[in-house]
Amino acid sequence: MATEIPRHWRDATRAIHAGESKHGVGGPVVTPIVRSSTFTFSSSGEMKRWAEGKSKAYIYTRYGNPTLTVAETTLAQLEHAEAAVVAASGMAAISSALLGILSAGDELIATRQVYGGSYRLLRDVFPRFGIRVKHVETDLAGADELVTSHTKALYVETPTNPTLRVVDLRKAVGIARRHKLISLVDNTFGSPVLQKPIELGFDLALHSTTKYLGGHSDLIGGAVVGKQELVEKARQMVIYLGGSMDPEGAYLLIRGMKSLELRVLRQCSSALAVAKFLAGHRKVARVHYPGLATHADHRLCRRQMHGGFGGMLAFDLKGGLAAARRVCDRVRVFLLAVSLGGVESLVALPAYTSHYRMSPKELAAAGVEPGTVRVSIGLEDPADLIEDLRQALA
Ligand SMILES: *Cc1c(COP(=O)(O)O)cnc(C)c1O
Repeated sequence: MATEIPRHWRDATRAIHAGESKHGVGGPVVTPIVRSSTFTFSSSGEMKRWAEGKSKAYIYTRYGNPTLTVAETTLAQLEHAEAAVVAASGMAAISSALLGILSAGDELIATRQVYGGSYRLLRDVFPRFGIRVKHVETDLAGADELVTSHTKALYVETPTNPTLRVVDLRKAVGIARRHKLISLVDNTFGSPVLQKPIELGFDLALHSTTKYLGGHSDLIGGAVVGKQELVEKARQMVIYLGGSMDPEGAYLLIRGMKSLELRVLRQCSSALAVAKFLAGHRKVARVHYPGLATHADHRLCRRQMHGGFGGMLAFDLKGGLAAARRVCDRVRVFLLAVSLGGVESLVALPAYTSHYRMSPKELAAAGVEPGTVRVSIGLEDPADLIEDLRQALA
């Protein structure tokens, strides 16, 4: 079903046309949901060929499905990568990618500021299987010194949640190449619209497709994108551990990706307007948005991200937790909810959500204060978003 996409087509065009046959008479314009758990073989001979690894036929949806293939083709196109595998969630993608690479006795170097679920996976689960994790800060200082003969991979996430720190992707690739480490980046916040880590030399880019790629808050999904050989290892783990995406989810992901570029560009321009408004508000202590010249990584972000500074921001209130809770309870256009990247703008308190069950020390290291409010900008009119925050802060 997946058709070859001409290389010169731009990403937005590729996202709309990937995998879909446009030239047949009477063919569907959208990808059908192949709602079947199993697929017929043409003969016992074909079954034998499959067992020998000589047939690429679909046999069972946990192993692969035509709707999933279209989603994977589109993802690979968007990241300018060789291959992709989709998974049941971002965490299924992240855990499958890492377990495809790491064995007992191996070490992983990871930035400390990563998605809360990833942080807890590395802290609570991997050590039980003999995989040691060493942390570096977002500036990657001292990473070279942490490498030993057991170090296998370097894992980063950028921009980070919730303070939007930016990791220098070129620097990370340099460290990984120097020590022959496999490089992985969680590209959920940036999306392939704003940054293309595979083009910069990363081996794998990881996504929670729940967020920008799906884009409508109606899907839980994930993806591993990058070098064919490593994607196949991740695919094997998805098959073993069972974290495969459902065809219905793949359909929603395909539909979401068609409008990805339009959504992300609009979210970036609205986020910048909201960040500027908040930066000028007397009750706001600090705004975390890499598009503001006051942000520690503004210049790096300008170099590294293209088209905008992202749709995520956070702000600290002078009045601490009580003031942050008051804003969250008073907003009317923004919804009070976790997650991000959808068409609805959301606010959440990281201390109670993404960063729950972390010690005060861990919170401080993540740059999270009790009065930090995280914001995901959606597609509402930016003037309405600013007006809503103005009344909630009053
Ligand atoms: C949400 C998120 C994840 C986890 O994805 P799920 O789809 O919830 O499993 C991983 N990384 C980042 C940056 C996220 O925002």
